[in-house]
Amino acid sequence: MRGNMRSATTGVLQNIASSFPANESLEIYRRMCISRHFELGLVRAVKEKRVTYPVYLSLGQETVAAALSMVLRDFMIFTQHRCHATFLCFGGPAGKLRDELMGLPTGTSGGRAGSNCIQCHENGVTMFGHHGLIGENVPQAVGAALGSGRPVVCFFGDGAAEEDYVVAAIGFASTHRLPILFVCEDNDLSILTPVEKRRSWRFGDVAASLGMKTVEIADDPWTIADRARELKNDLPAFMNIHVCRSNWHVGAGTDGAPEWDRFSFVESELGMLGLGKEAAAVKAESADAMEALWAP
Ligand SMILES: [Mg+2]
Repeated sequence: MRGNMRSATTGVLQNIASSFPANESLEIYRRMCISRHFELGLVRAVKEKRVTYPVYLSLGQETVAAALSMVLRDFMIFTQHRCHATFLCFGGPAGKLRDELMGLPTGTSGGRAGSNCIQCHENGVTMFGHHGLIGENVPQAVGAALGSGRPVVCFFGDGAAEEDYVVAAIGFASTHRLPILFVCEDNDLSILTPVEKRRSWRFGDVAASLGMKTVEIADDPWTIADRARELKNDLPAFMNIHVCRSNWHVGAGTDGAPEWDRFSFVESELGMLGLGKEAAAVKAESADAMEALWAP
């Protein structure tokens, strides 16, 4: 299954990418670049011991937030613990995230929460962070959708999908037809244990049995944006998106090269779309901004 997800959009320009206006494709890529270069600066800061909080890096998983932030503009956001890309792509100020990770009072939670609990209530963004109990954000998101009537996007991981209160909350959302998009960022790992060793069932089948539309897709950003555009008009709904985490569950280390790197695939496809020069400029600008942000 994972191999299929990797090869689904590798090396061949997909029609769906060609159907997007150039400015949208470049904006998705810009958001990916901001997230990637923020995290690369954070890795350096961890190695230099300027950041000592445990960090949950979004490296490798950037496309989900980059694509969905283009589509779900007015949605309230409930994140999982790995949420830097979500915060940055939806419009959170990068300086406040850096300050939170450095434990400074100017951080998103006054420097008291750290990497897994990032909030945002500015720039038109309403984002609630995670507090440490895996999957807790799912019933909270459902309650927020019920109480406010506002559309909500709720991110969780493939490990959280195994918690009973997550299933119960999604069932409640389905029964009451709440305006919520559930997004499983499925990196195939619960810390270090792959899905196939943990369960024999797919969460998409569970969500479908509870009565909502579901999709199971690779982390190609054009596909993610396209499917989200369709699903947001028929909520509640569920997306299982196969991503590839580049770094450890927590911390800046790696266990060798990742299985795939969607970032490089997207760069190839932008080249095939004739946008290579513009993409290079976007990347350079984002890299410079994030390097300045993390300068000692
Ligand atoms: Mg996982």
